[in-house]
Amino acid sequence: MAHVIDGNEVGVRIQNELSASVERLSDSGVTPGLATVLMSDDGASETYVSMKQRACEQIGIEGYHYEIGPDEPADELFDRIGELNEDPSVHGILVQMPVPDHVDEQRVLRRIDPLKDVDGFHPENVGRLVAGDPRYKPCTPHGVQRLLAAADADPAGKDVVVVGRSNIVGKPLANLLVQKADGGNATVTVCHSRTDDIAAKTLEADIVVAAAGVPELIDAEMITDGTTVIDVGVNRVDADNEKGYELAGDVDFEDVEEKAEAITPVPGGVGPMTIAMLLYNTVKAASLQEGVAIELPGQ
Ligand code: NAD
Repeated sequence: MAHVIDGNEVGVRIQNELSASVERLSDSGVTPGLATVLMSDDGASETYVSMKQRACEQIGIEGYHYEIGPDEPADELFDRIGELNEDPSVHGILVQMPVPDHVDEQRVLRRIDPLKDVDGFHPENVGRLVAGDPRYKPCTPHGVQRLLAAADADPAGKDVVVVGRSNIVGKPLANLLVQKADGGNATVTVCHSRTDDIAAKTLEADIVVAAAGVPELIDAEMITDGTTVIDVGVNRVDADNEKGYELAGDVDFEDVEEKAEAITPVPGGVGPMTIAMLLYNTVKAASLQEGVAIELPGQ
């Protein structure tokens, strides 16, 4: 049976260490501030934002939350971002994605001051990551990297297959893992919807990261005994309960657990790490903007 990697436990440990970093900032008169902006009435987005705000509160980050109706003009959002860029008490700005169709997502990402871009999606921060000099590592890929470290699955010299090539998970994760840096040095293959034979790739892998948004895409037939499997997927699948759905990852957990070396559950794997790394970036943002050097939790 696989070792189950507990993302809640690792996330709480990092949050506790971040509390100490926040205290050191506070000794210098600095309170880190994170502004979240929601332009959607989607229930899942509302839940994600409130979880992020709650986590801020727990470690002493000041949370500011703004909501804009999904039918409002795009300029409402751009003007709000402009104000937050100028607000010295706000060190991090997070616009919860997706934004409505009439709002140009790329323009939103470019509008955020790169120093306050705690999601790490501004082209300047994407470029820095690719160039091997990351300022803010995107939260979910960074969380995956931390989980691998916590599970003693150093990717250095290993064959890693990332399934998914989105700008928020697959591509930045591949970039992180291939870097000549701690937590990197892997040989990375990126699979996606046009990959011919995904199983042929995953069967050769030491580490498989599933980030496709397809329930049960990865089963035991697609991995070997020694594989570490990280499941990023969060999918709503029909269920016979009050809500009418339950959350499932991209990995058939029960099947793969029998065979893999280690595996993350959904929920309780990558999800809590995404939030912990958002807090990490916000504390780092405050330190950079206020010129107060502090130690941040290491790998
Ligand atoms: P996305 O839809 O933007 O990208 C999915 C990627 O998977 C695409 O690049 C596509 O080419 C690939 N893909 C789709 N179907 C495939 C298939 N059948 N075989 C191989 N590749 C396929 O999604 P995303 O935003 O990257 O998110 C991926 C999953 O991760 C979703 O389930 C999402 O909810 C979840 N997610 C979780 C967290 C977290 O914190 N746990 C954070 C972000 C995303």
